[in-house]
Amino acid sequence: MRQKQLFGKTRRDIAKEEVSANAQFLTRGGFIEKTVAGVYNFLPLGLRVLKNIQEIIREEMNALGANELLLSSLAPVSLWRETDRFENYDALMKAIGANPASRAINATAYILNPTHEEVVTPLVGKFISSYKDLPLAVYQIQTKFRNEPRAKSGLLRGREFSMKDLYSFHRDEADFEKYYTRVAEAYRQIFTRCGLKAIKTEASGGAFSKFSHEFQVITPSGEDTIFYCENCGWSQNREIATLKEGDMCPTCQKTVASAKAIEVGNIFPLKTRFSDAFGLAYADETGKKQPIIMGCYGIGPSRVMGAIVEVHHDKEGIMWPASVAPFQAHLISIQADLEAEKLYQALKEVGIEILYDDRDLSPGQKFADADLIGLPVRLIVSAKTCATDSVELKLRSKSKSELVKRNVLARKIKEG
Ligand code: ATP
Ligand code: MG
Repeated sequence: MRQKQLFGKTRRDIAKEEVSANAQFLTRGGFIEKTVAGVYNFLPLGLRVLKNIQEIIREEMNALGANELLLSSLAPVSLWRETDRFENYDALMKAIGANPASRAINATAYILNPTHEEVVTPLVGKFISSYKDLPLAVYQIQTKFRNEPRAKSGLLRGREFSMKDLYSFHRDEADFEKYYTRVAEAYRQIFTRCGLKAIKTEASGGAFSKFSHEFQVITPSGEDTIFYCENCGWSQNREIATLKEGDMCPTCQKTVASAKAIEVGNIFPLKTRFSDAFGLAYADETGKKQPIIMGCYGIGPSRVMGAIVEVHHDKEGIMWPASVAPFQAHLISIQADLEAEKLYQALKEVGIEILYDDRDLSPGQKFADADLIGLPVRLIVSAKTCATDSVELKLRSKSKSELVKRNVLARKIKEG
C-alpha cells in the first residue's frame, strides 16, 4: 500500500491522558484513535493488526473443532435476570430503546452483552436433546461492552473491546476436563504465535468453581501480580495465592518469584451454573435427563494487541512480531522513486505486503515514522543501492543494516 493513500497519520502530539505505552505508541503511530475513555476507533493500520491476531485465534479454534458463530450483542434484561446477574454483574452496560413517536424513552431496556453465557446457553438448548449431540463447542469473535471503572490503559482495558469467547458443552466432568486441557494447549499456541510469552496461571474460579486458569504476560504495566516459578512454570495469581514471594515452589521446591502481568486469556469451568439456570439438559442412553457440563474460554484480541506493544517496543516506537505486523516491510526511497516503484511492484507480485512510503518528506522523517510504526523489515532504495543492484535492509529489532541483492530480497523477507 502507498502511504500517501493510507488513512491515518503519525503524530507527535497526543492527548496527555494517554499514559500507557500501548495507547501512546498506537495513537502516535496512527493505529487507533480514542472516542472516549476506554473506547477506541481502529484505523486501517490498527485494524490490520487486530485482524491478524483474530485470524491466528480463529485458526486455532477451528483446529479444536469448534464452530464459529456470531451471537447477538443485545440481550433482553429477562435473560440476565434468569441467572441473577442483572443485579450482580457490576460492569453491565444497559441500552434503552427510545420511542421515536413520542421522543420519550420507552420501557424497553437491553443489555449490551459483556459476555455471552446468557445468550449461548438458551440458544444451544434449542439444538441439543440427547447424548448424541454432545460434546459441542461454539465460539465467536465479537465486540463486548463493560462499564469498566478504570479505563486508563489503552487497549488493555476497554469499555468496548474485542473478545473471542468459546463455550463447550459436555455430558460429564471427565469429557469436559479432556477438552479443557486441549483448549489450554491451543491457547499456548495462540500466544506464542502472537509473539507473547504467556504463563498459564492458577486463579480462583469466582462464583462457579474452585479454580480457573489465566494466561498472564509479564510486564511492568500489568494490573495483576502473579507468583511463578522460573524453573518448572508453576504459577498462581496473587489474589488467591496460597504462597508468597520467596516461598518454595510446591512442585519443584525452587524459589518462587513475583511479577506484574497482563491477563490475556482466561479459561473457566462453568460446571452446571448456566445449564441449571436455563434448564439445559440431555437425555442419556437410558432416556434419563442429565444436566450439561459447560466450560468457557476467553481471549481479548484487542488486549492482546495492547500487550504486544507493551512487550515489544523501544523508545522510538513499536516492534511488531512478523505474525501480526500490519505489513511485512516498509519501503523507503531516497531520491530513487523510479527504482523504488519498480521494487514495490515486484515485491507485491510475489505476495509480500509492503507499505511504500511515497510521501514527500525528508529521509529523517520517514525513518522516524518507520521506527514508530514498527514493521519488522525496513527497505531503503537509494542511488547507492541502485549502483550495486541491491537494497538496504534493516530489521526493526536490529541496529545494523545490510545490503541485499534484489534477486534474493523476496526470499530473505519471507524467511524473516
Ligand atoms: P480482568 O480480570 O482483566 O478484568 P476478566 O477476568 O473480567 O478480565 P474475562 O471475562 O475472563 O475477563 O474475559 C476474557 C478475556 O477478555 C480476558 O482474558 C481479556 O483478555 C479480555 N478482556 C476482559 N476484559 C477486558 C477489557 N475491559 N478490555 C479488553 N480486554 C478485556
Ligand atoms: Mg479473567
